[in-house]
Amino acid sequence: MENTLRLIDPPRQATRHWVHGALDTLAQEAARSADTHLLKLALAGFPGIDFYFKDESAHPSGSLKHRLARSLYLYALCNGRLHEGQAVVDASSGSTAISEAWFARLLGLSFTAVMPACTAPRKIREVQALGGTCDLVDDPSQVHARAAAHAARGASHLDQFGRAERATDWRGNNNIAESIIQQMVREPQPVPAWIVCGAGTGGTSATIGRYLRYRRLDTRLCVAEPAGSGFVQGWRTRDREAVAQRPTLIEGIGRPRVEPGFLFDVVDQVVEVPDTASIAATRLLEELLGRRYGGSSGTNLVACLQLASGMRARGERGSIVSLLCDPGERYAETLFDPGWLAARGIDIAPAREALTRCVASGRWLPPLG
Ligand SMILES: *Cc1c(COP(=O)(O)O)cnc(C)c1O
Repeated sequence: MENTLRLIDPPRQATRHWVHGALDTLAQEAARSADTHLLKLALAGFPGIDFYFKDESAHPSGSLKHRLARSLYLYALCNGRLHEGQAVVDASSGSTAISEAWFARLLGLSFTAVMPACTAPRKIREVQALGGTCDLVDDPSQVHARAAAHAARGASHLDQFGRAERATDWRGNNNIAESIIQQMVREPQPVPAWIVCGAGTGGTSATIGRYLRYRRLDTRLCVAEPAGSGFVQGWRTRDREAVAQRPTLIEGIGRPRVEPGFLFDVVDQVVEVPDTASIAATRLLEELLGRRYGGSSGTNLVACLQLASGMRARGERGSIVSLLCDPGERYAETLFDPGWLAARGIDIAPAREALTRCVASGRWLPPLG
């Protein structure tokens, strides 16, 4: 008996005490947070088809990465990989860094985002405003190695790409899929025909795909991606070594590689969207919803319209649910700046017109890019 007791040393118990406090803090944050709105849209050309967009920009840290960051911290804490006073690091130049910095501040931890030096100054400022540090790396291919170097010096590496798919509780716990299905309960067509999302870490699509099976729903999962992305190339042949055919301007999705969190087998369809169409669709979203959302939300809208056109042509009714991933303000100096688009030779007018015709007629009229 005495021997057993002596195995529990006081410093370890102090550590556990802090971990319990950190888990309390995260549970309190979750309790204070409201669910994100599911906005409903009826489009003239699609009678019998209801569109819903879940507004993930409403999270306190501004994007769907709020869910991922909360899950990654919980996962690190419950795996004994995050201790009092430990530095936290991740490689991210986007919305993940902002959400991870937000939670680091909540937990009283220091956070470093490893980013390519070319990252937009606006994003660097957002991470810094939350108390985070940005470690800028000249060669973008070196961000993972740099994050590993921080970890070797004692930092806890949250590793969004390595852990997104397993950190989220896919059976429920108000994950994004459970929240959607719950919010649909009183709608006329409560079980969606389709749920549409993009793939960055793959965490969102993995969670939705697993949850739909777990709940025995007939809803199909469509991944909307920039044309020729790593996900698109890999999904066709289930090739995990596939690489993207071209880079994309749409942030958060369209990864160059097949990331560890891409679960191809839970995805029923992939829709490829040219960047020009995604950007044009952000303008249509603004017209329909009265607010600006980022490029990946535009990608989702284009895929929704394409799926709906197919349903309409086959005489099907049903509901389609998708996501508004982050706010358009983050792209004021890029996607929403006419000068920035012109400098890249991008003219969104033809795609914008084609989308308006599609909404009015219910017919898909490619090409949109
Ligand atoms: C991360 C991200 C996505 C994709 O979500 P994952 O769960 O990482 O696949 C889409 N849009 C934006 C803006 C993102 O930051």
